[in-house]
Amino acid sequence: MKNKIWLSTPHLGGTEIDYVNDAFENNWIAPLGPNVNEFEKDISAFLSEKTDFHTAALISGTAALHLALRILNIQNGDIVMTQSFTFCGTTNPISYLGAEIVFIDSEIATWNMCPAALEHALKLYKNKPVKAIIPVHLYGMPANMNEIKSIADSYGIPIIEDAAEALGSTYKGQPCGTFGLFSAFSFNGNKIITTSGGGALVSKDKSHINYARYLSTQARDEAPHYQHSQIGYNYRMSNVVAGIGRGQMEVLNLRVNQRRNNNLRYRKFFENSEGVSFQNEPNSDYFSNYWLTAILVDPKVTGGITRETIRTTLDKNNIESRPLWKPMHLQPVYKGSKFIGSGNCEKLFDNGLCLPSGSNLSDNDFLRIFEVVKEIFKN
Ligand SMILES: *Cc1c(COP(=O)(O)O)cnc(C)c1O
Repeated sequence: MKNKIWLSTPHLGGTEIDYVNDAFENNWIAPLGPNVNEFEKDISAFLSEKTDFHTAALISGTAALHLALRILNIQNGDIVMTQSFTFCGTTNPISYLGAEIVFIDSEIATWNMCPAALEHALKLYKNKPVKAIIPVHLYGMPANMNEIKSIADSYGIPIIEDAAEALGSTYKGQPCGTFGLFSAFSFNGNKIITTSGGGALVSKDKSHINYARYLSTQARDEAPHYQHSQIGYNYRMSNVVAGIGRGQMEVLNLRVNQRRNNNLRYRKFFENSEGVSFQNEPNSDYFSNYWLTAILVDPKVTGGITRETIRTTLDKNNIESRPLWKPMHLQPVYKGSKFIGSGNCEKLFDNGLCLPSGSNLSDNDFLRIFEVVKEIFKN
């Protein structure tokens, strides 16, 4: 059997180990230290040349979203609106706090939160305690932040941006992760850059980020003994893994180019395949890091070939691909929850597939993938 080709794997630049060694040499093997501070600065600087963004490095993107919701004091009885078409990392933290989720459909253009469905939902929930809106930039594609933000602003509801998949993406030239009151990034092993596991909470509001750092270190009040006036979390990033992050930030722009190149390669390959379409940048306002290349397969046009035909055939050849996110309102755990929209995200799930998209895929890997897919479309 040939080597496994994975959907997305870590891709180190080379300098990560130096920062990790620094941590070892100076005995900064703790959830604090110079790598944590510098990694936070690197992220803030990447998002804005001005020093107007602040970053708290955390153990995961899920933890970042949890803290954002917690800082907004969201609790049992409150409502949070988010797109149904996402990963459970978006929704779990809402449920940790006992808040109700209203799931919003996707728009066709970006596959992300549909502004019209959001507006409709807000009208329906006009006199209800809707406390936050969480758009997600799936597979790196920016959501329609102009419209989402203007709708959210008109209702005075804060936005928490789930930018876990969109580090390096921009909308109207502005980086994803700079539109919300809070934004969350993930450095899980499969993301565009990784710290093995990790995340970051970003905000323009420095006091919010200071508060996040406090909550993420067990909410220790200032005192010689352990003193607590609030319930905290053990969510702070370790100085060891922050060293990996510092090295990864040095190659982030390169990784974006490589992922976008992958996307281009797939587009060229499928150019003449009727019934295969892509998640597209709707216009020049949108710049996706194309973290994952995602396609839709229409069996009515392909002569019966489905995304499952492609997925299972790739799998037989030791090549990993994955159906698009299963909408959260269809998940057993959210059975009976509210969904607003016409079901675009259900169709995306039915027909969509993520293709191997790692920035470290070789020419030979692509040859193997293309050979398998060519064979499917030949018959
Ligand atoms: C990865 C991811 C998260 C969660 O990040 P973790 O670091 O894995 O906790 C949240 N939302 C989306 C859309 C993600 O892809």
